[in-house]
Amino acid sequence: MENPNLEKITLEETGKFISQSLDALIVADAETNRYRTLVKRGFCENFFEEEGDYQVLIEKLWFHAEFSEDQITPDYLVFRPTFSRFSGKYGKKLNIRYKGIKHVLQLTVYPINDNMFVFLLDELDESEKLDEMLTEKVNTMQNTYLFSMYFDLDKDTTSSINITEISDDAMNSQIKYSEWRGMIVNMIGADDQALFLERTDPEYLKKNFAPGKTSSFDCMMQNLEGKYIWVKLIFSRAETSNEDDYRFVFMVQNIHENVVDLMSTLKKYEYMALKDPLTGLNNHGRIQTEIENAIGNARKNGQIISLIMLDIDHFKEVNDKLGHAVGDITLKHFAALLSAATIDRNIVLGRWGGEEFVAVCYDMDEKAADEFAEDLRKKIENEDFEEVGHITSSLGITNVTSNDRFSAAFDRMDKAMYAAKSSGRNCVRRI
Ligand code: GH3
Ligand code: MG
Ligand code: MG
Repeated sequence: MENPNLEKITLEETGKFISQSLDALIVADAETNRYRTLVKRGFCENFFEEEGDYQVLIEKLWFHAEFSEDQITPDYLVFRPTFSRFSGKYGKKLNIRYKGIKHVLQLTVYPINDNMFVFLLDELDESEKLDEMLTEKVNTMQNTYLFSMYFDLDKDTTSSINITEISDDAMNSQIKYSEWRGMIVNMIGADDQALFLERTDPEYLKKNFAPGKTSSFDCMMQNLEGKYIWVKLIFSRAETSNEDDYRFVFMVQNIHENVVDLMSTLKKYEYMALKDPLTGLNNHGRIQTEIENAIGNARKNGQIISLIMLDIDHFKEVNDKLGHAVGDITLKHFAALLSAATIDRNIVLGRWGGEEFVAVCYDMDEKAADEFAEDLRKKIENEDFEEVGHITSSLGITNVTSNDRFSAAFDRMDKAMYAAKSSGRNCVRRI
């Protein structure tokens, strides 16, 4: 049934109506880097010039820190003819802050030809913004997927490429699978490129994917901002009864935050397992392993190694006179002094327990170790410890022999330290 009112509306009138309700209509030529504003109203009146540089326009819309509330994105590269073969339509909501006021702009770009585009900009009112907020929520789940596409190994084709960072819509490209593989490998982290090439090799995929099979692996990949992030690359072969049908779905999932969280948790556990919480030095277990490894090295390849034990003199008095808290601060200070004194040497330090510390000194012969220990003793003697003033320590040294055992080496070092104590403290002894 005809509707007389609808019949009367012409294309010209519709065009006029649309241009009257748009907030901006801009035509741009990427090749000559120019744009011209045909329509502008509302805040766009002042936001856009009558004409200007295309690059400036793009900066304003996508990644100019001054205006955009969104993260900097190189979306605009899509419109650069030199960058890609994407030539579809583009749509995005932009959050622009201009003169302190937030504006949500719906942007749609239509290509006129390879270099020229029409930009339609429409500011969304409050109800539209609300609507946008709701869809944004729904999208966050899907947003962990950065990229998806189909490919067909037999035809060497790709289709329905969807880059969620750029647009919700899928783009069709004429990129061959083999070409795509060659392009994407450059976005994969250097360490994972060989793995990527192995797992995306058509022969590998054909051999390892029965119809319907899904498999994935994790690697580092550059996102559109050029940052390397952790992603999961997922491959799934279409369910088919035809043995020669090698159609696949490929997806990239952003797992960066999860991986980073997991790694920092692992690091924390690793730290807790190996470090002494008070001083931050290696703990008893870690330094014991270090001594055992050092003895193994000396036995296997004759590495020259000295072991030094340090024990603070009359430390109980510090606690008794000034309290346990001051004692703790003194232990921390003492550990920091040891760390600073060993930092540029091949020495591994640890807190054996209480006020006893061990240094495993690599490639230090007897003379060098004696000098180093004497130096350390003087440094400790001369250090001014908060509230406590001056303290001294007794040091015992031994060198690891080619057929040593942990218990024997440790015993010598311990006895040497006690020899220093019985010689009046504040001295170095060797056994
Ligand atoms: P010596 O010169 O013979 O080594 O005398 P000393 O007092 O240093 O030796 P002793 O073994 O009698 O006492 C060690 C003291 O170290 C006892 C303990 O209260 C203190 N100590 C051990 N661990 C800690 C700690 O984590 N914090 C504090 N504040 N004190 C500690
Ligand atoms: Mg002691
Ligand atoms: Mg002591």
